[in-house]
Amino acid sequence: MPGLFDYLPLAAEGSPVPQPGMRVQVSFGPRVRVGMIVALARESDQEPERLKPILALLDPQPLLGADDLELILWAADYYRQPPGEALFSALPARLRRAEPPLAPVEPGQPGWRLTALGRDQAPGTRARRQAEIQRLLGDYPDGLGEAALRSRLGEVKTPFRALAARGWIEPCHLLADEPVKTPESGPELNPRQTEAIAAVSAALDRFQPFLLEGVTGSGKTEVYIRLLLRVLEAGGQALLLVPEIGLTPQLRRRLARRFPGRLAILHSALNATERERAWQAAASGAADLVLGTRSAVFVPLPRLRLILVDEEHDLSFKQQEGFRYSARDLAVRRAQRAGCPLVLGSATPSLESLRNAATGRYQRLELPERAGAAAPPAIGLLDIRAQPLRGGLSAVLIRLMREQFDTGNQVLLFLNRRGFSPVLTCHACGWVGDCPHCDARLTLHLADNRLWCHHCGLTRPIPLACPQCGGLDIRALGQGTERLAGELQALFPDIRVARVDRDSTRRKGELDRLLAAALAGDYPLLVGTQMLAKGHHFPRVTLVGILDADNGLYGSDFRAPERMAQLVIQVAGRAGRAERPGRVVLQTHHPDHPLLQTLRRQGYPAFAAAALRERREAGLPPFTHQALLRVEANAREASLGWLRLAREAASQLGGPRIGLFGPVPAPMERRAGRYRAQLLVQARERPELQAFLALWVPQLYGIKGQGAARWSLDVDPQEMY
Ligand code: ADP
Ligand code: ZN
Ligand code: ZN
Repeated sequence: MPGLFDYLPLAAEGSPVPQPGMRVQVSFGPRVRVGMIVALARESDQEPERLKPILALLDPQPLLGADDLELILWAADYYRQPPGEALFSALPARLRRAEPPLAPVEPGQPGWRLTALGRDQAPGTRARRQAEIQRLLGDYPDGLGEAALRSRLGEVKTPFRALAARGWIEPCHLLADEPVKTPESGPELNPRQTEAIAAVSAALDRFQPFLLEGVTGSGKTEVYIRLLLRVLEAGGQALLLVPEIGLTPQLRRRLARRFPGRLAILHSALNATERERAWQAAASGAADLVLGTRSAVFVPLPRLRLILVDEEHDLSFKQQEGFRYSARDLAVRRAQRAGCPLVLGSATPSLESLRNAATGRYQRLELPERAGAAAPPAIGLLDIRAQPLRGGLSAVLIRLMREQFDTGNQVLLFLNRRGFSPVLTCHACGWVGDCPHCDARLTLHLADNRLWCHHCGLTRPIPLACPQCGGLDIRALGQGTERLAGELQALFPDIRVARVDRDSTRRKGELDRLLAAALAGDYPLLVGTQMLAKGHHFPRVTLVGILDADNGLYGSDFRAPERMAQLVIQVAGRAGRAERPGRVVLQTHHPDHPLLQTLRRQGYPAFAAAALRERREAGLPPFTHQALLRVEANAREASLGWLRLAREAASQLGGPRIGLFGPVPAPMERRAGRYRAQLLVQARERPELQAFLALWVPQLYGIKGQGAARWSLDVDPQEMY
């Protein structure tokens, strides 16, 4: 079982003294590997002749402080992951290898500024990237560094060359590390914003979690900014975590304007060097504010006084591969250790956080109204039972879309693919396959053409006709964005379609480009996944269509309705933000579904309350706590067999208070030729689950599998794929 290992200090006389947080090179088995010192000990349990000396010390200074080490090791323990994996995934990529840390950036670094000629030119509308550069440099008369330019605008080589060739910009050397300009001031606060800010400000010297529940556009970001200003003025550092898609150019620019020269941004679009520099700016205390995605929760911040988590319900805070952790949950732990407040913000808080607010663990702050003028759009349900569909669209929706295009408006179409697992439904009557033994839907497995229940393991052949109405049109719910975009193009040949999803935006800068073009009105029709739903304002959008809400109602994952409701509300927040009123249309086979009706009539808080009651009755999180053991192997029997051994070991340890469900094949059973299966562990109380895992996980390392079985454990799993 991987863990911590003992080594002797460097052998040579006068060698530097190792300290916790420094990386070392050591021989490990037959190989030389990079490790990190986590503690100095006087003694070892190892036999003296087996102890080997450290080969080399890689860092002159510790990379991680005592608090950072403590947080990461705590996380490794909580999530039952090898400490080495946790420690190294918290470091910038280069430092995971035996590379020396980058030297700090010297003042006087090269940069760019507008020439006198360039200052007189109004930014054009055609060359968008050039205009962006002009506008940004216009804010910094003394110039801006190349790294800063890249971190704000992405790759800018080509537009740069064009501007330089025209003589509008010129190279220069910066006087300070980052040029300073006068920060912009914000709007006058409304009373609810003032209240929220006062509540958090009163807790700046202690640990206190807040849940900031504010409808889209209610001014949450403005609240964050004021709190950040306060903390930074007092000499503290702050961390703002956002979901991957939350890092839109809009937010980046807004913060850069309010915190000139004090902001370090950490996101996946940066290259390794840029990331490491931002990381070091935070760790050295040179940057006051870190804006980052998930892994930024581990960035060292010696003067940390405030943590903000925006869109706290978002799934991208959960790492789903390797070191599986929840950045949101770790942020709570980190704030507790640092003795500082934490604000979790969302228009659609997770049921976990709502429950914490209900029990008084979190203090609730509310912004119930939009800050600007726009009213929230109406949500309508479109009954598509027995309707002919083209590309998944009903005739009514197609007509509504055409009307918008004809009047120069924009349309957004959403596919809810998150946690996608196909469920079988009858198109004539809306029947869905249920398990007779569980309160659960049967999941379609195309690999063996059967339906499976993921709770009890029941399996059935796929019916040839609908068991309810005898209809023959039985189909799987859900389709992909790519296919949809193609079909839309055929339906509306004269309309430009932009597709926004993980695949279409893989190229660096592509998401920014698509969003800017969408904002400029280049694409009357936008099609996408969750990515399109958050943080963006599309003032020209007047119609939003959600095509497969049923997948959310009847997905095999018990969180599917929560995700669907969050998506609907987030999506509704995109429409009609300016003077044009918006409307949201949900296509469904279940217009009478109680959760849909509650959501439509009473909004998210009422929906969440109903969903929480259901969870309590069903004994599901947040009223219980789960861990999911996943296995993949070359054959179904190998993966299920491995899990049966794991289950045997568990039943000898667990006692009556630990529930074991499975093994069952994973919802997506075959991936890349491997068979996946899972075993769910559930306990009433978190400490019970932790105590059980502490005994069980070491045993898992000893189970000999067949068919190249590989396993992983997911504590507090968010998706049951
Ligand atoms: P959220 O983060 O809740 O979506 P934002 O903070 O982005 O909301 O605010 C939405 C819009 O309203 C922004 O354009 C913002 O500048 C503006 N805004 C925020 N607070 C106020 C206020 N008190 N008065 C006027 N406009 C405001
Ligand atoms: Zn069942
Ligand atoms: Zn039917």
